Amino acid sequence: MKALQYRTIGAPPEVVTVPDPEPGPGQVLLKVTAAGVCHSDIAVMSWPAEGFPYELPLTLGHEGVGTVAALGAGVTGVSEGDAVAVYGPWGCGTCAKCAEGKENYCLRADELGIRPPGLGRPGSMAEYLLVDDPRHLVPLDGLDPVAAVPLTDAGLTPYHAIKRSLPKLVPGSTAVVIGTGGLGHVAIQLLRALSSARVVALDVSEDKLRLAREVGAHETVLSDAKAADAVRELTGGLGAEAVFDFVGAAPTVRIAGAVAAVEGDVSLVGIGGGALPVGFGLLPFEVSVSAPYWGSRSELTEVLALARSGAVSVHTETYSLDDAPLAYERLHEGKVNGRAVILPGA
Ligand SMILES: [Zn+2]
Ligand SMILES: [Zn+2]
Repeated sequence: MKALQYRTIGAPPEVVTVPDPEPGPGQVLLKVTAAGVCHSDIAVMSWPAEGFPYELPLTLGHEGVGTVAALGAGVTGVSEGDAVAVYGPWGCGTCAKCAEGKENYCLRADELGIRPPGLGRPGSMAEYLLVDDPRHLVPLDGLDPVAAVPLTDAGLTPYHAIKRSLPKLVPGSTAVVIGTGGLGHVAIQLLRALSSARVVALDVSEDKLRLAREVGAHETVLSDAKAADAVRELTGGLGAEAVFDFVGAAPTVRIAGAVAAVEGDVSLVGIGGGALPVGFGLLPFEVSVSAPYWGSRSELTEVLALARSGAVSVHTETYSLDDAPLAYERLHEGKVNGRAVILPGA
């Protein structure tokens, strides 16, 4: 089968032919219908050889949707032909966190060498994807594969971060979204669907801010040196009850801290390597800073339900598997508005 692989440190990913995978006991083979292109893959491909955490070559793609093509021995609960989304942050399935469905925080994944597809295990940017266990499959139940696939990360990750702060997003409150790309433009819609907060969106280009307004941001602010002051002004000097930074780089993290309200939440979601020091007098009183990761199995079910209700729609542009390297190139250049989706069957 064809697959998009990251093969050489620092080089662009390549479309190659690899053996067709076969499901072992307990595994499910999917024919991939759609795979999402995520900015974190670009971060992975910029890491140096020293300390690189995954084996190469690596088939990319940690957002995947497909139809069940074959079942390994002993698999029950799914049937050939079922249309499903893949829950990506695989865990051991039995530790205390996994028992709660929080496989994103599995306590034993590292020790057992369990990795998500596309981030250590072969990912979804291929004609077929091996899923380690049917519990990692959620029925699409009528959702369009292209519309649904970004929800498995670009939807689930902001959903998880926002859910933590929902009690603070009461009427009259403000939520700030920094970075309105793949995750951020979904975050704006989730905030509008789940809360009555006023949503202020920040990004570096007017193009991105236009999309932010289209999907529901009440206010947009160019993310420059004056951005924090502008947000303060919009909130009567008080700041935002919840701040979600989907970039996570040093300049955006600084803005995130500078726009938080007293007792506000700051969620650093992007993996840009920025850090926000916490200490007396450094931030407004009792600001809580967290760096969440992906989301739980039950939260993925909730995000898909929200999409079925029509509350969330991801802006997508589609590419064939052969053109997948181009999708990464465009994302790297900041030219993708919303989410790029690869169609391995096209
Ligand atoms: Zn991602
Ligand atoms: Zn576990």
